[in-house]
Amino acid sequence: MDEVDAANERAEHLTSMAIKVALSRQSRAPSSGICRACGDRIESARLRANPSAPTCCDCAAEEDAEHQRRRKLGGRG
Ligand SMILES: [Zn+2]
Repeated sequence: MDEVDAANERAEHLTSMAIKVALSRQSRAPSSGICRACGDRIESARLRANPSAPTCCDCAAEEDAEHQRRRKLGGRG
C-alpha cells in the first residue's frame, strides 16, 4: 500500500520537524553543563549534540521513560 508508506514518511517528517523545533526552542539558553536533576556534569558528547541539554544522559533517559509512561497511562483516559 503506497498510502501507508506515504503516511509513514509524513509522520517521520513531522517527527523530525518537531525535534528541530524543540531543539531550536531549547537552544536559546546554553546549558550550564551541570545536570539540573542530579547535579553531575553533563557528558561533553551530549552537550555537543545538544548544547542546551539541561540534564545528563541518565536523567534525560529517566525523564524520557517517565514521559512515555505518562503518555501510555493518559493516552486513552
Ligand atoms: Zn543527571
